[in-house]
Amino acid sequence: KLHNTILELKGNIRVFCRVRPLLSDGDSNSQDEAMISYPTSVENAGRGIDLMNQGQKVSFSYDKVFNHGASQEDVFVEMSQLVQSALDGYKVCIFAYGQTGSGKTYTMMGKPGRDQKGIIPRSLEQIFKTSQSLESQGWKYCMQASMLEIYNETIRDLLAPGRSNNVEMSASKQYTIKHDAHGNTTVSELTIADVFSTADVTSLLEKASHSRSVGKTQMNEQSSRSHFVFTLKIFGSNESTGQQVQGVLNLIDLAGSERLAKSGSTGDRLKETQAINKSLSALSDVIFAIAKNDDHVPFRNSKLTYLLQPCLGGDSKTLMFVNISPEASSVGETICSLRFASRVN
Ligand code: ADP
Ligand code: MG
Repeated sequence: KLHNTILELKGNIRVFCRVRPLLSDGDSNSQDEAMISYPTSVENAGRGIDLMNQGQKVSFSYDKVFNHGASQEDVFVEMSQLVQSALDGYKVCIFAYGQTGSGKTYTMMGKPGRDQKGIIPRSLEQIFKTSQSLESQGWKYCMQASMLEIYNETIRDLLAPGRSNNVEMSASKQYTIKHDAHGNTTVSELTIADVFSTADVTSLLEKASHSRSVGKTQMNEQSSRSHFVFTLKIFGSNESTGQQVQGVLNLIDLAGSERLAKSGSTGDRLKETQAINKSLSALSDVIFAIAKNDDHVPFRNSKLTYLLQPCLGGDSKTLMFVNISPEASSVGETICSLRFASRVN
């Protein structure tokens, strides 16, 4: 069935699609654009996306589609309310899904320069700014940040002391995930940093990024083969009213979703691919079980879904970005990504 009907997800799950622009890297292949069109005539955001695959039109529809012209600001405007809700005590997850090179890290982190900043820095700026302005109404906030990656179903603490010098030291630790009755998650031995400003978090993000790139030389471009999870816990209390809130903002840059040629993968590479496939399909199963209001949601099928269990479902809020590449050579992967998100297989 080639025509995919509009997603009707229940609850607080939304799916946004973002199309990366063609990259002018001098590679002539990259000018080989897939036939992508947007059925609704809007500047940077509509709901539909059509593409041609082997002479046939395939249509998809999401809560929002950002075309190649959408700026980081255009994207953030559509989600600033969601970020804000973490300050109001909600648990929020924002994921970036897609093949390697489709713009996940650009969407989440962005690049240096004011206009190029992605969702993570913009969210932090907004959260710290808003929390300060709420001080006049008696609110005091404490924030805690942690950063980890999940590689081959194993948690690695990206803020572990000495991590940048000795990857194995932290890899040998047992990071055990525990949830309490109030929906609070702890990961034993994981570094938790108290943060007071965007600058505090930015320097931790740099440390985390260094930890990941150290792993990269040893571990086969690990950063695209692992899930990156940034968590900000927000504790707010109001002296004058006695109110208390606890919110969580999880920002997740998922491992590349590309299917590797099965025959060619052996050993570590095969193990990696299986771990990624397993965890991405576990995530999809969980999100769509929640959307369908299923009685059983299979959170325990992967580290990622188990870690995020209290932040998925219930009254928590989830946003999934599907990042896609515009090149004709990627059309197969692009359709897989679009299908993943609309769950029409
Ligand atoms: P991924 O994290 O999915 O592997 P990246 O975010 O690293 O992909 O994107 C691949 C390249 O494309 C990077 O050089 C990135 O800066 C660039 N890029 C991605 N999305 C955009 C965009 N919307 N606008 C401009 N450049 C982008
Ligand atoms: Mg990336």
